[in-house]
Amino acid sequence: MLPLDTSPKVSDEIRKTTCYMCACRCGIDVHLTGGRVSYIEGNRDHPVNRGVLCAKGSAGIMQHTSPARLRAPMKRTGPRGSGQFEEITWDEALDLAASWLRPIRETAPEKLAFFTGRDQSQSFTGWWAQQYGTPNYAAHGGFCSVNMAAAGIYTMGGAFWEFGSPDWERTRLFMIFGVAEDHDSNPIKMGLGRLKACGAKIIGVNPVRTGYNAIADEWLAITPGTDGLFILSLVHVLMGAGKVDLDYLMRYTNAAHLIDQDPRSATYGLFLRDKDGRELVWDREKRRAVPWDTQGVRPAMSGTVNLGATHAKPVFQLMADAYLDPAHAPEAVADATGIPAATIRRIAAELAHTAFEEEITLDRPWTDFRGERHETMTGRPVSFHAMRGISAHSNGFQTCRALHLLQIILGSVETPGGFRFKPPYPKPVAAHPKPHHKVTPGYPLDGPHLGYPRGPEDLALDAGGNPKRIDKAFTWEAPLSAHGLMHMVISNASAGDPYRIDTLFLYMANMAWNSSMNTSQVMDMLTATDEAGDYVIPHIIYSDAYSSETVAFADLILPDTTYLERHDCISLLDRPICEPDALSDAIRWPVVDPERPGHEGVRGFQSALLDLGVRLGLPGMVDDAGEAVFSDYADYMTNHQRRPGVGPLAGWRGADGEGKGRGDPNPDQIARYIENGGFWTDHIPEEATFFKPWNAAYQDWAVERGLFDAPQPYLFQLYVEPLAKFQAAASGIGPHQPPEHLRAQLAVAMSPLPVWYPPLSDARIDLEDYPLHALTQRPAAMYHSWGGQNAWLRQLHGTNPLYVPSNIWRDHGFTEGDWAHLTSPHGRITVPVALMEALNPDTVWTWNAIGKRAGAWALDPDAPEATKGFLLNHLIHELLPPKGDGLRWNNSDPVTGQAAWYDLRVRIEKAPPRTRGAPVIAAQTSPVERGPKNVAYDAR
Ligand code: SF4
Repeated sequence: MLPLDTSPKVSDEIRKTTCYMCACRCGIDVHLTGGRVSYIEGNRDHPVNRGVLCAKGSAGIMQHTSPARLRAPMKRTGPRGSGQFEEITWDEALDLAASWLRPIRETAPEKLAFFTGRDQSQSFTGWWAQQYGTPNYAAHGGFCSVNMAAAGIYTMGGAFWEFGSPDWERTRLFMIFGVAEDHDSNPIKMGLGRLKACGAKIIGVNPVRTGYNAIADEWLAITPGTDGLFILSLVHVLMGAGKVDLDYLMRYTNAAHLIDQDPRSATYGLFLRDKDGRELVWDREKRRAVPWDTQGVRPAMSGTVNLGATHAKPVFQLMADAYLDPAHAPEAVADATGIPAATIRRIAAELAHTAFEEEITLDRPWTDFRGERHETMTGRPVSFHAMRGISAHSNGFQTCRALHLLQIILGSVETPGGFRFKPPYPKPVAAHPKPHHKVTPGYPLDGPHLGYPRGPEDLALDAGGNPKRIDKAFTWEAPLSAHGLMHMVISNASAGDPYRIDTLFLYMANMAWNSSMNTSQVMDMLTATDEAGDYVIPHIIYSDAYSSETVAFADLILPDTTYLERHDCISLLDRPICEPDALSDAIRWPVVDPERPGHEGVRGFQSALLDLGVRLGLPGMVDDAGEAVFSDYADYMTNHQRRPGVGPLAGWRGADGEGKGRGDPNPDQIARYIENGGFWTDHIPEEATFFKPWNAAYQDWAVERGLFDAPQPYLFQLYVEPLAKFQAAASGIGPHQPPEHLRAQLAVAMSPLPVWYPPLSDARIDLEDYPLHALTQRPAAMYHSWGGQNAWLRQLHGTNPLYVPSNIWRDHGFTEGDWAHLTSPHGRITVPVALMEALNPDTVWTWNAIGKRAGAWALDPDAPEATKGFLLNHLIHELLPPKGDGLRWNNSDPVTGQAAWYDLRVRIEKAPPRTRGAPVIAAQTSPVERGPKNVAYDAR
């Protein structure tokens, strides 16, 4: 009998790099056989995934070998949208791009709109755009989850995903809102496994029971867009029962800070301050207003205080006034939310019980920023996580704020058992830049594009009040649009509103398909011509690794590599991969050569962008002699310094490689990363691991590591003053005034305390005509998988039915195999339907980004993705239905500009039998050959 080999050798070499099959960025071991990728497994030493690999990660081999890979730079030869191209050399391609970009830089740099998709190098692409001088740069956050990010930063200096995570080891009650799968994919799965193993309770709040909700102990089928109402009702019950952590609120938040309540005052609605600008609280013992950080102060949390000409209330009193109102009682919100009043009260009781009766105390002494020594760390084992389900609504910013307020009143942020920040967070608004938008032809922009406005004076408006940015970010329409409004770029550029542009430059954003609302019309906008027959957007440059739908609409293609063929930098300057106990960053490096035999070949986009920068002579990319400063992106990763001693990579800095976070560039740095498995990690000292915003040891450690340059302790902002400034402006106070038509909207949306209001589009349509909510979610197997053409993954999700709850299924007499017309105020699609019981009764939904345009992705034109797969995007307009005032109203959150994908309302009707969905978009010509029926190679 032959001996059984239980561990056969599967490769002759292993190279360790970072997965890019989603935003989680796990460490992977790439096995090579004869120089070819033969197997991918998880890196057991990696701080993110500790060896865990998901289905997407292992399917990376199919992404790397995809027949849809581009092979050479291409210039359009047929009409835009046709997909007809000729291959050209890299020199020709970059010279052509430079010939378009050079003249507009000298005259009107804003005529370049440079937007990137789920780019993981935003600190680099943003710097490039800044050096070019255009104000028109952002990545995809505006159509993803900027509400979550901005609400978190303004409230507590961080949010979910890269910003922080639950204390998986100690949490006893975990609530997850609006999440099927998430950026932090494998750590969440590992964390949920841990919670299950130790008997903690998981409550899923989601209209659809998929993904993580499937393993929740309790599932609340909330009505879309009402999460804020539910959360504020929990706050109502908790505050009414006195179940709030008053000591925590007094020490670490602005709950006691006094707010001017005199409407005649110039500082109405703002903090009361002394002559030195210090915010005031009312000292109960001394019976006078004193600066909030006065030693030994005993601040009042309630009541009204009279102070000379004005009167004021502490923030906590304003919260009581707002949230104890009967309008927030469970009985008042039960119908709208779809959650029974008794359930809301029970969950509030469970939160209170776990937070206050199951308190955790760790024997870890620490010292706070006031110098007070604490012998223990006390925490409340309740934690939360949330994602796009609560943020992609036009009331999403305030809903995310409400969730943070709930976390804070329970005292469960940065305490054992609660939510924990991951470095470089926490990071308050004060530590972030303001938006920059000063354009000087021929010169760089005056600073980073994206930031956090402190008030109306920071808006990106010219002297006449006109938007400076093509997406109208940082205007009265979306004052705090910290990630820009990518979904408005093509629409505004096509409408010439606020101005026409010359070149649209996109990277990793499939805007002609699933990355835009209103897909069909966006394709028209990209091909629209003016009276002279010229394209309204004269030039479109696009970089993608694959033959996606958007490739067909570009004039010039800069082909990117796959993630196994490139250098990349998962940087602390960008979207970090840290854990609450450790600082980490990582690289990608070419574990295989980017070969495209018989063709010009591909280049990592960042290296191509640097080359383009050199051709344009951009400052920082060329020296005084006009020579390239960086030979490629790897050189930039090693030698670029954002601040002296602080660069893209934090590990092994300095000539001796001993520097952590700070130090001179080290020419061996990338080699050290490769030697270490592709990542660097540094553990936070134990005394610094909790209470980070107020913990002196954490603040000092963070300064040592270069996260910031001086300690920056701060208080959580239950009441957000920048919002109050905009609200005051809406009521006519202050030198910066909004246009009349936006005053009412701003007065509600810019509330400095979290509020709930119905999704904005509800007021523009007859809800009886459109009684259902319609949602999309990314499947776990394809969440952020750039390329649903992946030969393995498409076997899991080759089509996407519209899931219909049983009541609607029955009412319409649907049976398996049926089709339905789904109609929104904007359009109609015809789609296959499927029954789903675990679904809110007023909601239909489908998986996102499965549907493909025929001819794209090297798929057979009759592939199920093209015939039965569909996008809800066709039903969602980037503008609200017209109001009759001639104005273009964004279908976005009025605070941040976040695309309000999930406000969609529809009606459903049974459709006659058919084999193909509608609309049918004509096939595009593919610049690559169709993939073979079977992809196979011998990897032994
Ligand atoms: S696809 Fe995402 S979760 Fe899966 S292994 Fe890769 S990075 Fe990790």
